[in-house]
Amino acid sequence: MANFDLVILGGGSGGYACALRAAQLGLQVVLIEKDKLGGTCLHRGCIPTKALLHAGEIADNTRHAAEFGVKADFHAIDMAGVNSYKDGVISKLHKGLQGLVKSRNITYVEGAGKLVAKDTVEVNGQRYTGKNVVLATGSYAKSLPGLEIDGKQIMTSDHAMHLDYVPKSVIVLGGGVIGCEFASVWKSFGAEVTIIEALPHLIALEDESSSKQLERAFRKRGINFELGTRFKSATKSATGVTVTLEDGKNFNADVLLVAVGRGPTSANLGYEAQGIKMDRGYVLVDDKCRTNIPGIWAVGDLIPTLQLAHVGFAEGILVAEEIAGLKPRAINYDGVPRVTYSEPEVASVGLTTAAAKAKGHDVVELNYDLAGNGKAQILKTAGSIKLVAAKNGPVLGIHMVGARVGELLAEAQLIFNWQAEAFDVAPLIHAHPTLSEAMGEAHLALAGKPLHAHG
Ligand SMILES: Cc1cc2nc3c(=O)[nH]c(=O)nc-3n(C[C@H](O)[C@H](O)[C@H](O)COP(=O)(O)OP(=O)(O)OC[C@H]3O[C@@H](n4cnc5c(N)ncnc54)[C@H](O)[C@@H]3O)c2cc1C
Repeated sequence: MANFDLVILGGGSGGYACALRAAQLGLQVVLIEKDKLGGTCLHRGCIPTKALLHAGEIADNTRHAAEFGVKADFHAIDMAGVNSYKDGVISKLHKGLQGLVKSRNITYVEGAGKLVAKDTVEVNGQRYTGKNVVLATGSYAKSLPGLEIDGKQIMTSDHAMHLDYVPKSVIVLGGGVIGCEFASVWKSFGAEVTIIEALPHLIALEDESSSKQLERAFRKRGINFELGTRFKSATKSATGVTVTLEDGKNFNADVLLVAVGRGPTSANLGYEAQGIKMDRGYVLVDDKCRTNIPGIWAVGDLIPTLQLAHVGFAEGILVAEEIAGLKPRAINYDGVPRVTYSEPEVASVGLTTAAAKAKGHDVVELNYDLAGNGKAQILKTAGSIKLVAAKNGPVLGIHMVGARVGELLAEAQLIFNWQAEAFDVAPLIHAHPTLSEAMGEAHLALAGKPLHAHG
């Protein structure tokens, strides 16, 4: 039985980030993974979806080439080609990650592990004991009662990622980030798309103004959506799937993508048996990712924080540094950047207007329309940057819609996390013509000296 400083169960974003940082700090680490190093993000999540979205962007650019004076004809999507491009990106990153883990002298174990004692994980009949155990088993795609996922007509994102054809029509159940990204991809690939969302808006966790702008843009792209009505049932036939809503409406399509959220992977892994406090399958932790059992930690999608790869990275690093005695600062989850990578993109950091008001702030808002931004006009994109700020105080939230606005989050998160005020940002010079200029212009306007802003 080998003895380690850290036994890490799960080699996704949270687990491998923890392993890499702990090894860097001189700790002895074993990383246990039952599938592929890199987890959901690399193999079934962030990376493949963004490759699909980029292929979609190229298809749209080709269709619209004449608007830019370029003669090009769009023929078709070759899914074999798209998948080979996507898998090539994954494979390169996977190899790079395997090399990193190897170079840091991390013991890597392949197999399904189970927590069998407070300090021990068992894999393939072998026990690995550590001063600390880090649980990082991630999440799975959820379904709804009565919905049988067959991976062919009714699928989750895991299956949709590998489709070798473009369906003629798709129903996307769930208008959250994953649902909207797939709706965007499939529309770009030429499918007829309908999103069904029980809440009153798409990407309902975002500021309402961003949701409304995305809805407007999707409507313009011909993506259909049905909001505020709940799913009742789905029936399969030889020709496709019929979805019935509680209000009696029916929708037919070739395939149904179920994108109703992700649940923690924690069943039958020995967590409860060791007395770990859980809630609906999530492992509960404090602000340093400690569970109630001394020496057991948990990170990533397994705990009830934002389900994002970069949150998993940050939590993994936090745990490694805490174990090494570096006393890192706890994560401010409001300061985590968030992106929906559809066309157009939606990006945000900090509080929505509603959340800022609920926290008792006296709020001022500023909307900067991308119509005033040269680069946005060159790209022919529409959207805005909305600032939510405390009256005579710091910026509390930044909410953006438009092509490529995800890239603007680098600056937006510095502004929020360093608690900058409009007059701190206004004098900073932004290169012309860039989309980032819109960030500068928005703060100029909020500081009372708008340049390229109307009204
Ligand atoms: C379609 C989709 C798109 C996404 N896009 C983005 C995006 O653009 N940006 C972003 O930030 N996030 C995105 N995410 C979310 C992101 O993928 C997750 O937040 C992230 O992967 C969570 O990391 P994790 O380490 O907690 O879990 P995971 O990545 O799920 O890793 C958990 C690992 O544990 C392993 N495991 C589970 N049980 C055991 C066991 N018993 N023994 C051994 N190993 C085990 C699993 O095989 C898995 O590899 C997306 C997710 C999906 C599904």
